[in-house]
Amino acid sequence: MKLLEDKIKQEGKVLEGGILKVDGFLNHRLDTALIAELGADVAREFAASGANLILTVEASGISLAYATGLKMGLPVLVAKKHKSLNISDGVYTAPVFSFTHKTENVVLVSREYLSAEHKVLIVDDFLASGNAAIGLLSLVEQAGASCVGFVAAIEKSEQGGRTRIAEKGVKVYSLARIKELRAGDIKFE
Ligand code: 5GP
Repeated sequence: MKLLEDKIKQEGKVLEGGILKVDGFLNHRLDTALIAELGADVAREFAASGANLILTVEASGISLAYATGLKMGLPVLVAKKHKSLNISDGVYTAPVFSFTHKTENVVLVSREYLSAEHKVLIVDDFLASGNAAIGLLSLVEQAGASCVGFVAAIEKSEQGGRTRIAEKGVKVYSLARIKELRAGDIKFE
């Protein structure tokens, strides 16, 4: 999506370790008009998917998930991050290694809000190696629900997450696909 690619070129900063900083518009200060446009694009793409629930993970996936859910008239389930597996019953859990923090977290959702009748569209801010996506997919599988797609605002293709998700038969849709991420030189697919 050109709007997002232009914004990344103008304001994105490339940090050590292949991290793109987009704090100014996507996950610290939020550009509400831009995120609304992104959500509308995702809603168009998945209009015929039969999705009846959006799933994301706190905190930086929430803004795009909300914009998408609002356009599609769907609720958004926000998986919580926890530091240990020592958690009460009544939740589905999955371990997720964090690309940005290099630590392992557990993501969890209440069994009350995710069940077999759900057709889930998963939404996150970034797709890198796919760990977050695979963890969220595991929650969907544990509930006996199905997944109609995985959406990322920004995909970093070099890190291979797309293949891992597609291998599970899940459609991957990203709004900006970065082919090469170098300081001063961001190339899109
Ligand atoms: P993955 O699990 O696919 O390796 O990484 C996805 C998660 O890590 C996303 O939820 C996102 O929060 C974070 N992440 C991965 N790469 C980047 C990046 O380049 N910049 C930022 N800000 N977050 C990233």
